[in-house]
Amino acid sequence: MMKKAIFIISGPSGSGKTTLIKHVLHTFPDEIGISISCTTRPQRIHELDGIDYHFIPQERFITLIKNDEFLEYTECYGNRYGTLKSSVNNLLQNKRICIMDVEYSGAGKILSQQFAPTITKIGILILPPSISALKNRLLNRKSETITSLNRRVTESFDIGKIARYDHILINDQINRSKNEICQIVKGCFFSASS
Ligand code: 5GP
Repeated sequence: MMKKAIFIISGPSGSGKTTLIKHVLHTFPDEIGISISCTTRPQRIHELDGIDYHFIPQERFITLIKNDEFLEYTECYGNRYGTLKSSVNNLLQNKRICIMDVEYSGAGKILSQQFAPTITKIGILILPPSISALKNRLLNRKSETITSLNRRVTESFDIGKIARYDHILINDQINRSKNEICQIVKGCFFSASS
């Protein structure tokens, strides 16, 4: 039987994670789909409901928790985020690979969960080349206070969290990183095709 795979991607904002995920989706449109998370955080100006996230109120989020509809959920920087079981299952059925963008704690929960033997889990952490590079990228975005910037930087390079992942991708050169992430995905096609 053909195996299926879940790619769990994490990385601090400023790591190039979103660019790399878009590249993978664009390169393998028939095989890979992205799980759209639910969040209680306010929608940003460029974001679309149902495309970037399902933007839902707190009460709806709590109902989804009570109904056991999340594969995992977390609170991050004061907002709630959750991966719907239905979203992942639909992608595994209709495509072959589900990719998801989750922070460290969500990644840890999924990587330690038991799935059917026909499903492979692969954790990829995307990091900028150095602490100073991450600081500069975040400073350029002008979205952080000094406190939140320092918190994000410390968390991003926490070795206990990093160790959970199967692949650490240091994004110092975007084209090389695109190539590298596609190689990881292709490796999964071969190992998951028997
Ligand atoms: P942002 O608010 O900037 O879109 O995302 C903030 C963080 O939430 C990112 O690190 C992203 O990976 C994480 N995130 C997005 N969706 C989920 C989810 O469903 N579960 C978890 N655990 N984290 C998520």
